[in-house]
Amino acid sequence: MATVQCCKCGQEKDAISGPTYGAAIGEEIKQRVCNACWLEWFNGFGVKVINEMQLDMRKPEHTAMLIQQMRVFLNMPKIEG
Ligand SMILES: [Zn+2]
Repeated sequence: MATVQCCKCGQEKDAISGPTYGAAIGEEIKQRVCNACWLEWFNGFGVKVINEMQLDMRKPEHTAMLIQQMRVFLNMPKIEG
């Protein structure tokens, strides 16, 4: 199985095997975050953020807010511009 140097836990661990978010951000997540840390976000904190902020994933601005929260949680630096 592929491994990844994870920017959240700082260890080299198993890469993500399941789904992430779509398109470019999904690729970035898979290259930088391990499966365990991803699941911690995807099944745990991310769900909490969606519920607490009442985010509607059909709205691009809400998706952007979720991605922003995810970057903070996963210690992924923002891309400038
Ligand atoms: Zn990790």
